[in-house]
Amino acid sequence: MTEKSFNKKGLTKKSENISDWYHDVVLRAGLAEYSDIKGTMIIKPHGYALWERTQAVLDGWFKEDGVQNCYFPIFIPMSLFEKEKEHVAGFSPELAVVTHAGGEELAEPIAVRPTSETVITKKFADWIQSYRDLPMKLNQWCNVVRWEKRTYPFLRTSEFLWQEGHTVHTDKKDAMTMVMTALEWYAKFYREHYAIAPYVGLKSQSEKFAGADETYSIEIVVPDGKALQAATSHYLADHFTKVFDVQYLNEAGEKKIPHQTSWGLSTRAIGGLIFVHGDDSGLVLPPAIAPQQIVVIGIAGKDPVMEEKIVTYVGHIHKILKEAGLRVVSDVDFRKTLGYRINDWELRGIPLRIEVGAKELESKTATLARRDNFSKHSANFDLLSVEVSALLSIIQKDLFKKSEQSRDDLTVDVSTWDEFKSTISEKKVFIRAPWCEDASCEAAIKEEAKVVTRCLELDRFQEVLSGTTCVHCDKPAIHKWLFGQGY
Ligand SMILES: [Zn+2]
Repeated sequence: MTEKSFNKKGLTKKSENISDWYHDVVLRAGLAEYSDIKGTMIIKPHGYALWERTQAVLDGWFKEDGVQNCYFPIFIPMSLFEKEKEHVAGFSPELAVVTHAGGEELAEPIAVRPTSETVITKKFADWIQSYRDLPMKLNQWCNVVRWEKRTYPFLRTSEFLWQEGHTVHTDKKDAMTMVMTALEWYAKFYREHYAIAPYVGLKSQSEKFAGADETYSIEIVVPDGKALQAATSHYLADHFTKVFDVQYLNEAGEKKIPHQTSWGLSTRAIGGLIFVHGDDSGLVLPPAIAPQQIVVIGIAGKDPVMEEKIVTYVGHIHKILKEAGLRVVSDVDFRKTLGYRINDWELRGIPLRIEVGAKELESKTATLARRDNFSKHSANFDLLSVEVSALLSIIQKDLFKKSEQSRDDLTVDVSTWDEFKSTISEKKVFIRAPWCEDASCEAAIKEEAKVVTRCLELDRFQEVLSGTTCVHCDKPAIHKWLFGQGY
């Protein structure tokens, strides 16, 4: 192994070892720390603030659509899981089970929530009687437990936070509208708030959620060429409603079985955010999601008279930016060196730094320094709020463009198996290739190339291939699918 080089902040370089860099950023930027139980993490205030902003945006959209929040217990009777065999088959190795409580062995073991389809659907049977009760749209913001063997902060931990939407509809058509609405929320959220250009598409039958007919997902292309499944939306058909005997009377008074959906986005999203935008100096936050968009730094050069004047000037700037609706924080902690303060704000990814010292005070200006590309320019105090708002929008757009470019650069179109293999043996990338959509062919691809299907992109549904052979076998290809190695 070659010796690692660190930058001035003690971070591993992203280009040298992205995995070590990621762990360094998570710890040093104050996002999360490891905990006593292996595979669990403590989300620290800076990391939790990102989650709170994520929640605020999504929760607003859910409620506008009539989705109501609720909360179900974390403990689920094992018998409920056993009623849904297909579901438990997909989950059992990761299931945490309570066998003892209150000093006694329990008569029936209790599962710790890995997801809530079973316990929520059981209640739907009590709450739904008539077509007038539909659609029923619930969501909960909660924690889930999946006992993971291989863990990674934010990306894969034994306990994580998420939202799980659960809805019931009269028929498939209405349920599918909900599935696609949720998927669009997630896509829009990543594009407009996280400034990430993801792939949006359908999962293959072997990669879908065990209890679903169809699973749609958001796939992020991590800069190392690996894939991060960053949100999912499932059409559950009537699998759970049948098992749990959910029925409704339609307008003609006939008994019908309703169709169901579920959809979720977790704290894993924050992992994607770190990976996509971060650089050798640490975290880089898009202004739309940054809990603090601007830091105003006072520079006084150890002169107490100047310190007082600078504190006042910083206060004025803070006030006008706050009044313009911007999220601003000030730093006039002169006890620390300027270099340390700048390094620290850069590490934490604050999109814009405003520096004010004697020179700026005298000329009634401020120096603006962008976190994403380190460019600096001077702005007049009188125009500051307008200029800062405009600059934040530019940063947001530039980060998205960069993400889009990186995604496209890391996606390679191939048509033969030789090309497929030689491409991934050179470097990890997403591969787009014609595929027969046969599960045994997919299993063979996984075995030989260590990659799985990521998704069939939504905008390629219409593009049905004819006269094209599958990239791996002799069967005709149906669509071009994306393949990649997952996190
Ligand atoms: Zn094939």
